[in-house]
Amino acid sequence: MSKLSAINGMQLFTTETQSHRRALVIEPTLLCQGIYSQVLKGLNFEVEIVSNGHDALQRIKSEAFGLIFLAMDLPDTEGSSLCAKLRALPQSMNIPIVMLNSDESDMSSQKALVSGATEVFHTSELKELSTYLEHFISHMGTDQFVYGKILYIEEQLPEAMSTQQLLENEGYEVKHFTNADDAYNELLAGHYDLILTNIMLRGKKTGYTFIREVQKLSGRLSEIPILAISAINNIQRKIELLNSGVSDYIQKPVLDEELLARVQNLVNMRHLLDQVEHQRTEMRELAMHDQLTKLYNRHFLMDIGPKKIQEAQRHNVPISFFMIDLDYFKEINDSFGHAMGDQVLKKVALTLSELCRVEDLCARFGGEEFVMMLSHCDHNNAMNKAELIREAIAVMEIENINITASIGVATLEPNADADFDSLFAAADKAVYMAKEMGRNRIEVERTGKIINSLKKV
Ligand code: GH3
Ligand code: MG
Ligand code: MG
Repeated sequence: MSKLSAINGMQLFTTETQSHRRALVIEPTLLCQGIYSQVLKGLNFEVEIVSNGHDALQRIKSEAFGLIFLAMDLPDTEGSSLCAKLRALPQSMNIPIVMLNSDESDMSSQKALVSGATEVFHTSELKELSTYLEHFISHMGTDQFVYGKILYIEEQLPEAMSTQQLLENEGYEVKHFTNADDAYNELLAGHYDLILTNIMLRGKKTGYTFIREVQKLSGRLSEIPILAISAINNIQRKIELLNSGVSDYIQKPVLDEELLARVQNLVNMRHLLDQVEHQRTEMRELAMHDQLTKLYNRHFLMDIGPKKIQEAQRHNVPISFFMIDLDYFKEINDSFGHAMGDQVLKKVALTLSELCRVEDLCARFGGEEFVMMLSHCDHNNAMNKAELIREAIAVMEIENINITASIGVATLEPNADADFDSLFAAADKAVYMAKEMGRNRIEVERTGKIINSLKKV
């Protein structure tokens, strides 16, 4: 099996035939739902309709679609935010997303494109929309359809038109530019899978300058494969071209079959990289978070905690540490069941994260123990915050279960000499004291030069 067909054979980033003719319409108004269904059904699409972002995400995760229609305004989210979320999901990363705009402003269309929309139509442009769909259908392959969006730069118009036609006939979405400046701006705004550029451009930017600028970009933008077209038939120049960072090149006069094969190869590679990047992000998230409560886990705390202490010391600002341990939690499990115990842990976690500022860190250290690290928080502020937390937990209502927590507080004041371990040990000792003294209370422990004072609740 060739490398190309091996890549094509992977289900990861190809859309199976059956899903081609299934469209998901995400639209809140009944009138528009009816209109879009009619248009799509007229083109033999099987249509599924949802009216909000939440249902759309559920649907996308469980069913295969070949096309998505997305309204600009949804009851629970903005269309553009949903579009960005869809682009981050492996199931919808590479499906054409057509956004429907009832607003005349260019701003919202621009926002839609930046969020990853394939095309934006005004709701009054039904004829254009139908033409687009007919075009889309005629370009769908019979067995497998690999979608890709290509940014194409070529000054020679007749040549550009025939290449664009060739690629569109294969089902690619192509945006053509005659100069690299405009193409560069478009690249920043859109979600492209491949850059196809002539190297010999006479404008302000040559192909080489353009490539260098793309490489200086950050994130996915700098990793969009570049297929360079060059008339140079000199092996040394070709090697230089590859060394300059292009992914592949093709010699003029361009052979259609060769161009299509190279384009397909690079688009597939981009999709595979998207998939890997998505999985990597998911793995990172999984490794950092506790699955039950979604708070940071112990591993993350032990990694980031010492850095937060060092940062506070470097900037000479206070930082406070809370050890929060639920009282008699074993009894809650024993009396109400483990599942109810889990619900309590989730609710406590939610309460803690609501009381947590962005710069603070809130983690589930283990079982029914939570840790909070509060940046820029001195002793008095820490005591006030700890009291807020104690109260918030004590007034929590879950099926008449009495839920309280004991909190151990330790503060590292500016210029004090302590590290993460000693602060942790101090807060741990303080929570132990709180348990000893009757629970549902806050205690403070002093270590080294950590400033503390006692406040009973
Ligand atoms: P204390 O007031 O002294 O803290 O008493 P306690 O019962 O809270 O403390 P203990 O350490 O004896 O018990 C903690 C319990 O937390 C025991 C364990 O079964 C329970 N636990 C630990 N992790 C989970 C979890 O993920 N879900 C549930 N439901 N229970 C858990
Ligand atoms: Mg405990
Ligand atoms: Mg406990």
